Amino acid sequence: MQPSVIEIDDLTRTYLVGDVDVHALRGVSLKIRRGEFVAIMGASGSGKSTLMAILGCLDRPTSGTYLFEGVDVAKLSEPALADIRGRRLGFVFQSFNLLTRTSALENVALPLFYSNTATRGRSARFALARASLNLLGLGDCERNTPGQLSGGQQQRVAIARALINAPSLLLADEPTGNLDPESAAQVLALLREQVKTRNAACILVTHSQAAAATADRIVILTAQGLREAG
Ligand code: ADP
Ligand code: MG
Repeated sequence: MQPSVIEIDDLTRTYLVGDVDVHALRGVSLKIRRGEFVAIMGASGSGKSTLMAILGCLDRPTSGTYLFEGVDVAKLSEPALADIRGRRLGFVFQSFNLLTRTSALENVALPLFYSNTATRGRSARFALARASLNLLGLGDCERNTPGQLSGGQQQRVAIARALINAPSLLLADEPTGNLDPESAAQVLALLREQVKTRNAACILVTHSQAAAATADRIVILTAQGLREAG
């Protein structure tokens, strides 16, 4: 059986707003193994973004445990968390979040500059970025800035960037929310293909039944916690 990438148990996150407790997550448990492509659905306000922020080591739970690749994240220092974010996780957002005045190639190469592998030379970074763009079918677009690319192409650049450090977990929050159905289907197929060939894991937050249907599993976030669909 594949090792688990994440294992969360009875996770809660409570925000104190004034003197009122807002329970954004109440007792969420989930295990995701390498190679799995999992969709998370749930009504607005059900805690999807809160959960993604915790899984992305950007926020800490109020209670419960989060093991990332077997390591209890609560015991890690901020630099150790930054290292996980930079080298073990890949982030994909609804709004692509590309640097607008920068070429596709430079956008994809950027995380290499900030990670521990930054000692690699400029030409080596660009060679890796070029290879990542090619895998997403964008070999001919490396000099284009985001404004010179379609939405689907921009999201594929963002995926190439998210994959550049060979993460074990991709966190994609509504990655097809700004795309037409055809581009969305293409982006999801490429994302899935990369997750499978790399034996990584991916969590896809989506409102779209069609998008969720491309996943191996669908879990639904409710005020009572997570439940598996189907
Ligand atoms: P979703 O992404 O599923 O729409 P969120 O995780 O954004 O849900 O929010 C879950 C709940 O937590 C909501 O009730 C929201 O208002 C509340 N919440 C989220 N972030 C904060 C915050 N920083 N401070 C206070 N309440 C928050
Ligand atoms: Mg949200």
